[in-house]
This record gives sequence, structure tokens and C-alpha cells, in this order.
Amino acid sequence: MPDAMPPTDLHSLDRAHVFHPSTHMRQHAAGETPNRIITGGKGVYIWDDTGKKTLDAFAGLYCVNVGYGRQEIADAIHKQASELAYYHTYVGHGNEPVIRLSQRIIEKAPQGLCRIYYGMSGSDANETQIKLVWYYNNILGRPEKKKIISRWRGYHGSGVMTGSLTGLEAFHKAFDLPRAPILHTTAPYQYWNGTPGESSRDFAKRCAADLDALIQREGPETVAAFIGEPVLGTGGIVPPPEGYWDEIQKVLRKHDVLLIADEVVTAFGRTGQYFGSDTYGITPDLMTIAKGVSSGYLPLSGVIVSEKVWQVLEDGSDQMGPIGHGWTYSAHPVCAAAANANLDIVDGEDLTGNARDTGAYLQQRLHETFDGHPLVGEVRGVGLMAALEFVADREKKQRFDPAQKVGPRVSAACLANGMMARAMPHGDILGFAPPLVITRDEVDTVVATAKTAVDQVAAELARE
Ligand SMILES: *Cc1c(COP(=O)(O)O)cnc(C)c1O
Repeated sequence: MPDAMPPTDLHSLDRAHVFHPSTHMRQHAAGETPNRIITGGKGVYIWDDTGKKTLDAFAGLYCVNVGYGRQEIADAIHKQASELAYYHTYVGHGNEPVIRLSQRIIEKAPQGLCRIYYGMSGSDANETQIKLVWYYNNILGRPEKKKIISRWRGYHGSGVMTGSLTGLEAFHKAFDLPRAPILHTTAPYQYWNGTPGESSRDFAKRCAADLDALIQREGPETVAAFIGEPVLGTGGIVPPPEGYWDEIQKVLRKHDVLLIADEVVTAFGRTGQYFGSDTYGITPDLMTIAKGVSSGYLPLSGVIVSEKVWQVLEDGSDQMGPIGHGWTYSAHPVCAAAANANLDIVDGEDLTGNARDTGAYLQQRLHETFDGHPLVGEVRGVGLMAALEFVADREKKQRFDPAQKVGPRVSAACLANGMMARAMPHGDILGFAPPLVITRDEVDTVVATAKTAVDQVAAELARE
């Protein structure tokens, strides 16, 4: 056939026309890296167009919490789209799905949280957070109090400001980020940032002291907010050291700095309690939700505002008129209907309880299987999120040369053996965050497949 024939198969068309996120542009376009077309899913499994079945131990991007193929959600979407597919929520317009959704989330949310502003993605919700924090301080007559502190290795999105909040170099490099006034503080990542012999509590205190010093250096009158994920997610799935959130909150209260809990991954059961804030005793002034609120069946996110912030927003409207912030699709009725059907499943099947119980089993099996493995420096996690940290030398805590791509190779070996576990983007880390419906038998499959993959890569490395 002549070369000039336009491509007709989906794989070629994809390489020719689709601009993928987090993908090597030239290699994808040239067909040098594998591409996969996903065609279906049921429970914890997905299928691709070759008929291959894969156990998805990362729930898409830790979002498909109720698992794939839930007819209840598809039906709720169909019903709402048939009745009212869209109307905006500007100037006080409402719709029933979003009213019901808001009530049920607020009922379970940490103390003091009272109202939800909706968006479509975690990134846009965190953009809203930044605007609200700035607006709040303007209304309070503190126009200089605007800096926002996040942690190195935090992940808060890919927008201009939220990409700046994100503390991972890959999201900054060549994008002219981070933008002022965003600052980063110590990652609560004891494996790499702890000192030899330091207790978890002492390390937590040191992280808080670093934050305190940063705020003092900048001037507390210039620092508006601190944002953090209860458990570092994309930065490596790292639960905080003991007492971390207590120590951090002491510092924030001392300097009158707002706390934004980015619960995009942790909300709705993932850590074994309804919110990560419940697991770690966090009392946020503002909370971000997304991913698990709709299990990815449709895009939906939210900014949950506390009474303390809300009162100032009301004053703001008295002074300035209606708030000048709005997305066309805020509080979209079909997305809210999907979220209600999703939370019916989360509550009805007690998936939070399953994250706690089956999550504890996952952590136990990972420890039994990988503690002391020559390639594995640390096994860590909470609830149904876990990670293996790969190191070249366990005794000396030496990283692999990134060029060896150990994390991606283990992930590829998992995939070849029928399981998706994510090579986290920074470091040699294999992440697990399966749908919250996962069973113990499926956990056994996850751990056994990971063992096969890690052993395969260890053997390859030994030969090299
Ligand atoms: C995924 C994620 C975001 C961004 O959400 P998008 O929907 O991808 O914009 C923000 N914060 C955290 C903690 C996340 O994991």
C-alpha cells in the first residue's frame, strides 16, 4: 500500500490526532511507545481492544472508587440527562441533585464545613481555593496577606497556579512555574527526609519547625494559607509521620494562616475513614474534593468552605456585590446525579469500612511479601493506598540512577502480568490505590503479581 494512505485503524488515528497528557510526545507520535485503547470495565478489571483483561490496582487515577461498570450510576446519569441535562447555578439558581449532594456531604464533613462550590476538576477547585483565600484577606483588610505554602512533593493540579502549588519539578520545568506568591516547605517524607535514628514524632516536629521558620522568615502578615494532602499522593503515596497534622495545625493557628485540606484522593473512604481529615485529626478551613466524589463517572469537584470563611464571604458580598467567580458548569445537574448514585454505593456497601478492613489486609500482605526484599527500601500506606519504594542499596539508602527507570520497569512488568500499578512520576515508586470494592482474593492477586514483577526486574538488574 502507498505510504500516503491516511490511517484508518484506531491506534494510528490516536497517534495522529490525540494530544495525551503526561506522554512523551515524539515517541507516542512515532509509535515507539505502547499505546492502549481501553474498551470496557467491570469491578476492579478493565479490558482493552485486544481483549486483554487487566486488574486495575490504581482505580484509573485513584478515582474509580466504586469500580467499573456500575449500572446504577449509568442509569442515574441517563435519568437526569433526560429530565434536565443542564442549567446554570448563577444568581441563586439550583437543581435538586446538587442540593441533595451538598446536604449529604456537609452532614459527613469535618466540623465547621458548611457550603460547597462546585467545579469539574481538582485543578479548577484548587484555583477557586486560591481566589477565595485572596478574596478573604482583601475583605478582612489585609491585602498583603497573600502567600500560599504547599509542600515539596505535594500535588494540587496542573493549572498555572495549581501547578505552582504542586511541588514536583516535572510540572514546573519549562512552564515558567512556580509563580509567585507560592512557597514550598519540607515534604513529610521520612524515608528520604528523616535523619538516622530520628523518631517519627521528632521528624513531624521538625517538619512543623521548618514551616514555622518559613512563615517567620516571610513575615506571618504575608502568609495567607497552607495547602496539603492528608496523605501525599502523586508525590509518592506517603502517609504523614506520627503527630504531623497536630504539629502543623499548631503553627498555622499561631500565625492565623488558613488550612486547605486537599482531599481530592483521600475523601470518600480511601484512607479507611470518610475523609482523610478524620483519619489525621485535621480541622480544615477549606477542603478540596474531586475524584472519588463521582468515581470518575463524570467530572466533578468541590471546594468546601467553613463557617469562618463563609462569614467573610458574606461580608464580601455586602461590600462588593455578588462574588465575581463562576464556571459555566458549576454544580452541573448530571454530574451531581452521578455523584449521588456513586455515594449511594459508597454508603450502601460501606466501602469506607472495606477500605479500612481490606486496606489493612493489603498493607499486611505487602509487608509480609516485601519487607526485607533486596529491591524494596520501604513498604508504606494507609487504607487502600500503598506504595513500594525501590532502592539500589537498602543499607546505604541509595537511589537507583533514574536512567535505569526501575519504577516504570516494575510497572510495565506488572502490566505484562495482567495488573496496572502506577509508576509514580517522581522517584522509583510503585503505587497501589485500587477501587474500594476490592476483595481479599483480589488483593492476593495484586500482591502476587507485584511480587512476580519485582522479582523479574530484580533478576534483570542483577544481569545488567
Ligand atoms: C488529581 C489531584 C488534583 C487535580 O485534579 P484534576 O482533576 O486532575 O485537575 C488535585 N489534588 C490532588 C490531591 C490530586 O490527587
